[in-house]
Amino acid sequence: MCGFVGIISNKAVSVDIVLALQSIQHRGQDSAGVATIHKGTFPLLKRLGLVSHGFGPEQISQLPGNVGIGHVRYPTMGRGVLCDAQPFFYRQPGVIMAHNGNILNVPRISDELADDSVHLMSRCDIEPVLSLFAVNLMRLKRKDHTLEDALEALRQTLRKTRGAYSIVTALVLDGQETLLAIRDPHGIRPAVWGSVDGSTVVASESVALDVLGAKTQGDVAPGHVLVMRKGQSPQSYKLWDADHTPCIFEYIYFARPDSNMNSDSVYSVRLALGEQLARAWKAKGLQADTVIPIPDTSRPAAAAMAETLGLPYREGFIKNRYTGRTFIMPNQSERASALKLKLNAIRSEFYGKKVLLVDDSIVRGTTLTHTIQLIRDQGAVQVHLAIYSPPVMHPCYYGIDMSTKQELAAPKFLPGHGNGPLGEKELHLLEDRFSKKLGLDSLTYLPIEDLRQAYPRGHCSACFDGSYPLALTDQEKKWIESDRFSSRQGELNF
Ligand code: SF4
Repeated sequence: MCGFVGIISNKAVSVDIVLALQSIQHRGQDSAGVATIHKGTFPLLKRLGLVSHGFGPEQISQLPGNVGIGHVRYPTMGRGVLCDAQPFFYRQPGVIMAHNGNILNVPRISDELADDSVHLMSRCDIEPVLSLFAVNLMRLKRKDHTLEDALEALRQTLRKTRGAYSIVTALVLDGQETLLAIRDPHGIRPAVWGSVDGSTVVASESVALDVLGAKTQGDVAPGHVLVMRKGQSPQSYKLWDADHTPCIFEYIYFARPDSNMNSDSVYSVRLALGEQLARAWKAKGLQADTVIPIPDTSRPAAAAMAETLGLPYREGFIKNRYTGRTFIMPNQSERASALKLKLNAIRSEFYGKKVLLVDDSIVRGTTLTHTIQLIRDQGAVQVHLAIYSPPVMHPCYYGIDMSTKQELAAPKFLPGHGNGPLGEKELHLLEDRFSKKLGLDSLTYLPIEDLRQAYPRGHCSACFDGSYPLALTDQEKKWIESDRFSSRQGELNF
């Protein structure tokens, strides 16, 4: 997972890019980068780690220019090393690019580039797309490129690019600095845009616009490219017919609750998920004294669940805010160490009580084992867990870091299950087996039908039901899995 920001303005943009990147730091802590265009040059700086660590006044002063793009990275392809960090730059005709998502057919694009003697410097999946776009643009014309040239080169490039992606790119067209944002036809990964005082801003989440005081104007439409220039209203051009299936996991876990995406408030969706989960839990006839969220993501759903059940909502955990999100630490050993620092319990909220914990999802299960032990140690008499998403049974090939089945905890408790959503019996069997393994008194997942009630628009839920909106070839799956294995060997066991 990653996040990006692009700004075009009447004034220097790098300070605003850095500020906006900090607001979407939760989308990637592995590296950060900023690139601008300034008088025919393309200043670019990338740093490993957090934005605030890598981009102070000295670095920002090296990034002049009125148009630029920024990126925070969590690697779902390639490695957590600086040469894989984004944005990327291509010299001819001079173009910078970053993205959020996964490109599925990198080997095919790389082979085509190699036939033209174009070689890559990284294992990051946006570099081949940028290179192909630049090569196509240069084939159309050697210089003085126009917007029409860029749209044609984009169409040629993206016809050969399979994946789930939102891309931001900047270059000079028609003699003007031009910022482009592109969203794949399924609109799986988010991209929103807005404006403030002569600046146009595009970003992965609306919080990046909020922090700059920009008014959100809407989403980059799936299958479209949004063209942004100084002093002009942005124009949207259709590249393909769209079949919009945004990632439901953004609403469940990834996005900030104060973001809006695809015209929906993330916070409201989380409330609706909590209400649905309360009904599923109540149907089991279980009893609890309090509802406690496992911070931070699950707070809205836990509050809605408590309200629906008529139970007190309590804070039972204090999170050390100076540790990163464990899910997006780049490898398992770093995740495990971070867990020990991450949470402490308030004993009075657990001692002698039947507690109902609420969490967003279970991916690998490592976080949970530690948390449940922590609560048992506080003297809780019963520990129930309710998850406001269905079991994660299938890998995500579209840019969330769970791209191999081996790393997922839930399928290990239903080894015979193939594709398709879980039936009621299978779900209860899985809950039973998994709750025993975790040492819980009960485990309740949100059934997939209830997820659809909470978010009734079309969406991708392939990690829950195996129904992938963009079908993958076996070769593509194999390549993605091998990329993850080679980057994280030996770290994928529950
Ligand atoms: S498979 Fe799951 S995580 Fe991946 S895009 Fe679809 S809903 Fe999101």
